[in-house]
Amino acid sequence: ATGTAPRRMSPAGAGSPSQRDARWGDTSSYGARKKHRVFCHLPNGDWALCTVITTSGDESVLKLSEGKVLRLKTESLEAANPEILDGVDDLMQLSYLSEPSVLYNLQYRYSQDLIYTKAGPVLVAVNPFKKVPLYGNEYIAAYRNKTKDSPHVYAIADSALREMKRDEVNQSIIISGESGAGKTETAKIAMQYLASLGGGGGIEYEILQTNPILEAFGNAKTLRNDNSSRFGKLIEIHFSTIGRICGAMIQTFGERSYHIFYQLCAGAPASLRDKLSLKKVDEYKYLKQSCCYSIAGVDDAQMFRTVTEAMNIVHISKEDQDNVFAMVSAVLWLGDVSFTVIDNENHVEIVVDEAAEIVARLLGCSTEDLNLALSKRHMKVNNENIVQKLTLSQAIDTRDALAKSLYASLFEWLVEQINKSLSVGKRRTGRSISILDIYGFESFDRNSFEQFCINYANERLQQHFNRHLFKLEQEEYVEDGIDWAKVEFEDNQNCLNLFEKKPLGLLSLLDEESTFPNATDLTFANKLKQHLNNNSCFRGERGKAFAVRHYAGEVAYDTSGFLEKNRDLLHMDSIQLLAKCKSALPQIFASKMLSQSDNPIPAPYRSSAADSQKLSVAMKFKGQLFQLMQRLESTTPHFIRCIKPNNLQLPAIYEQGLVLQQLKCCGVLEVVRISRSGYPTRMTHQKFARRYGFLLLEDVASQDPLSVSVAILHQFNILPEMYQVGYTKLFFRTGQIGKLEDTRNRT
Ligand code: ATP
Ligand code: MG
Repeated sequence: ATGTAPRRMSPAGAGSPSQRDARWGDTSSYGARKKHRVFCHLPNGDWALCTVITTSGDESVLKLSEGKVLRLKTESLEAANPEILDGVDDLMQLSYLSEPSVLYNLQYRYSQDLIYTKAGPVLVAVNPFKKVPLYGNEYIAAYRNKTKDSPHVYAIADSALREMKRDEVNQSIIISGESGAGKTETAKIAMQYLASLGGGGGIEYEILQTNPILEAFGNAKTLRNDNSSRFGKLIEIHFSTIGRICGAMIQTFGERSYHIFYQLCAGAPASLRDKLSLKKVDEYKYLKQSCCYSIAGVDDAQMFRTVTEAMNIVHISKEDQDNVFAMVSAVLWLGDVSFTVIDNENHVEIVVDEAAEIVARLLGCSTEDLNLALSKRHMKVNNENIVQKLTLSQAIDTRDALAKSLYASLFEWLVEQINKSLSVGKRRTGRSISILDIYGFESFDRNSFEQFCINYANERLQQHFNRHLFKLEQEEYVEDGIDWAKVEFEDNQNCLNLFEKKPLGLLSLLDEESTFPNATDLTFANKLKQHLNNNSCFRGERGKAFAVRHYAGEVAYDTSGFLEKNRDLLHMDSIQLLAKCKSALPQIFASKMLSQSDNPIPAPYRSSAADSQKLSVAMKFKGQLFQLMQRLESTTPHFIRCIKPNNLQLPAIYEQGLVLQQLKCCGVLEVVRISRSGYPTRMTHQKFARRYGFLLLEDVASQDPLSVSVAILHQFNILPEMYQVGYTKLFFRTGQIGKLEDTRNRT
């Protein structure tokens, strides 16, 4: 039997075989016929394509492609698609949309360097980890002239462009995926396509040159990616009335770190080295921690020249460039500032040595100012000013927080300068295409505050994604006049409520607890359990842990460090130090920091310390996220999901388990499932009548296609809940066409 009753979509997440059946429809018995192609589970957990030799009782004998013969339980098999569907360029064309079918199709294409595949409206990109011959002017021209229409980032950029012109609506290209999946490369490929329109007017080139600058200051080598973006990025590209690029605006999110340290040390010319008192990379404490001073295949000195050249192109003056590098050097030297203990309570002062003197010189302050900011804290208690001496560990934390926020301010300032230089000004038409390159859903063995924020953002993006798909489906049904109330969709509003509800949501409770001086990660965890246990997306775990049921699966978070990470660590004394500095940039940074310290924390919860008046990290993050969503809401979205086929950053290795987990996390399987929950098979009345009309017993030659179609549906007893008749098309639940095809093939 191919036909299964329409089923509700079950929640996402890995499931047992029985759950799997519920989701995909029971297709196994259909497939397990002689000579049929099926998928079987190998001992290593992978799926393998094989052919049924015989079936007897509840067992089948199977032949694997390399000739090996296996005997397995028939019910463990999954139907495979006929050979003619191998490697189709849209997963929706597959007759069976099961997990192994999707995995197999992507792998089949990947092995031929066809790294792009559509999943309905979504483009899936599997990272090739090598140069593939899919880019450059010829390809760009082919997609522009529509002589090529296979799935590609160029095709997505091209439809964004066309739709922007046709509908006069702003567009967005939303790229997601986990670290190392290829988001930033994909964003650059999309930008190249859009920039190629310009014909070399200049601004396109400037926009492309923002990439090396942002990557130098915002990317770092990590375990998972040699060029990992430590920030999210939205670049809004503006178009003139004749459809040429006329400017751009970049917005960044989150935390950042640093190729530029290595590039500066390796590539600065002698005069700059002297001026900034640069040492070798392996002599800085901050850089020594990783013990990794170079990246295979990357020449830091050459990169430094590329970056300064790019800065010239986007009109950052020589003087500003020197100021920027002075700050980079100051951050590096800060790490070498050390302390001596001055009393038996472990209170400290800075050591006035080379490091302290260089930092003071680069910032434009005295070593005494620096000492004050790093060894003492001014507080207001009951309206009285008091000075607290810092202990060694407090002083080290204060120093590191200063270095971090100096660098963050520097990055923010650089982005501002780039935006000024690319600003659209008078030529603006208001029409734009935004490209979003943002970290995807993360679930590790241990998940902390960073994953908490990232996954919250992805929950929002997922809702955006769902609503868009929902709208697309709805439009198609309504256009064809069918009863669309029978289509079910999953919504993640519950999970978003868990995060956002006031006052009893994860974010509010975190902020409240962060302001209590005596709160600990454990009291925070207990508070969550006390207030949120009734929420179906929340699960309290033992000790300091809790779990959230995300759309992509359940994630357990460890609250260790949550409170501290949420409190902005930079103290007022540090901001005041920067305000006092004579160098150009620190003063700008300080005034910016002061203007940002709006207070979102309700008065009763405020502690008396002056520095609690700042926005918490989670609130800042939420604010940025809402701004982002607002911007995206008014655009027509185009989705690209990047997939990392292995963790080794190597070509030609496709790990099924890894790919499957990402397909779940980035919602590709969800798209497939949504499509299955409605009426995924659509065929025009004409096509249906032509294909199956000859099966009818009565003569219908003179009748119109609609009547013929209805007669076919009746003769083959297709149940009314299994299809709907639209104005132009028939809509079928999954599996229905298989029955008719079987009859047709037997006739
Ligand atoms: P992160 O979240 O860490 O920033 P990411 O998703 O932005 O990761 P990228 O930096 O874009 O990942 O890609 C990682 C690496 O994968 C690239 O440095 C490049 O080597 C390779 N890569 C990605 N996409 C392609 C492509 N289309 N062609 C060739 N190589 C690619
Ligand atoms: Mg990246």
